Amino acid sequence: MTGPALSSTATLRETMGSYYRSLGDADTAPVAWCSSVGPAELLRALGYRVFFPENHAAMLGAARTANRVMPIAHAQGYSQDICSYLTSDIGAYLAGETPLKAYGLTSVPRADVLVFNTNQCRDVRDWFEWYGRQWDVPVIGVRSPRSIDTVTDDDVEGVARQIEALVPTLEAVSGARLDGARLAQVVAISRECSHLWGACLGTAAARPAPFTFFDGTIQMGPAVVLRGMEEACAYYRSLLAELEERVRTRVAAVRGESLRLYWDGMPLWGRLRALATNFAEFGTAVVASTYCNSWIFPDLDADDPIRSMARASLNLFIARSEEPKEQYIERMVRQFDVDGIVFHDCRTCPNNSNTRYAMPQRLSKRLGIPSLVLDGDVNDLRCYSDEQGRTNIEGFVEQLADTRASRRGA
Ligand code: SF4
Repeated sequence: MTGPALSSTATLRETMGSYYRSLGDADTAPVAWCSSVGPAELLRALGYRVFFPENHAAMLGAARTANRVMPIAHAQGYSQDICSYLTSDIGAYLAGETPLKAYGLTSVPRADVLVFNTNQCRDVRDWFEWYGRQWDVPVIGVRSPRSIDTVTDDDVEGVARQIEALVPTLEAVSGARLDGARLAQVVAISRECSHLWGACLGTAAARPAPFTFFDGTIQMGPAVVLRGMEEACAYYRSLLAELEERVRTRVAAVRGESLRLYWDGMPLWGRLRALATNFAEFGTAVVASTYCNSWIFPDLDADDPIRSMARASLNLFIARSEEPKEQYIERMVRQFDVDGIVFHDCRTCPNNSNTRYAMPQRLSKRLGIPSLVLDGDVNDLRCYSDEQGRTNIEGFVEQLADTRASRRGA
């Protein structure tokens, strides 16, 4: 069974609600759309209201609106096999639907400029270009190297130069000049937010874990949409205090926690609660994930804002090759002392599915722990079977218990 809800969640709702409402009064400020790990700090320093369409798409998935609206984008020629965030979001726009109506907006905020970084995938660029054509506004971005073995100084210089090259267009659209001191200040706040969010996630190394991956996917909202804003830091200070108190008093996110897992890959937004319940029923806590950790940016440095933003974007897990990814997961497995790894094979996101080139097999062998591959999708629920998922989880938990017993016996 799952444990008590986090009391910080009420403040989280207020923090996120106030961010969404601020997008509705954006007449007073230019609006920039930004991919989730794009150069948000630069946009904030230039006075933009920043909108993250991936967050919007995740809301469509969590509200289970996605499957109703995706066919509209498919009919426009966007394949069922490409990113279901993209097809959900464009489909919802064409259908005149948005979960932001709950915050007084009638539509997604109209962009004055759209800014992508392809460090995660090409889809964000295609997605933004659709809106760029729709509204006849500039679409600019950073074309990043991917599948990187080692991030070199040349890689960093190349991306830093691309970030600098965004500035003239961003200044022209906003009518503001970039102030270096302001950019340094925003990067410092972003770094502080990243540090606090990392500390929150780190509390789950305790036994029992005070919160799980499923809680983390909700709690990460401010780290995604309020990066570079003091509100995000304020929220994570209060969340961290609650989590540390839970650790001190041994309040468990999963009652009777007996097994611990690591999650790799995207969440299944429309099935978060069902999956949290499935794992908890078996006394299993999913205590850490690549996904939630992806908004920790230790490279950010206020003394070298643009180059540090470039380095942070290149060091992102999703942009790396198999070996650094495996080393990263190995560190997580040891830090959080997990019994097994769940890999989500997200049908429409090969970019964030690490199941297709034998990583689960290699890691199981290297670390001596079992892994489970769950077939599903970030938003397209046709790709996930509740019955099959539950059966797979049950079988996996039995296997983990046996593996642990034999390790202890040995
Ligand atoms: S990383 Fe995956 S889910 Fe995210 S925008 Fe790219 S294809 Fe879509």
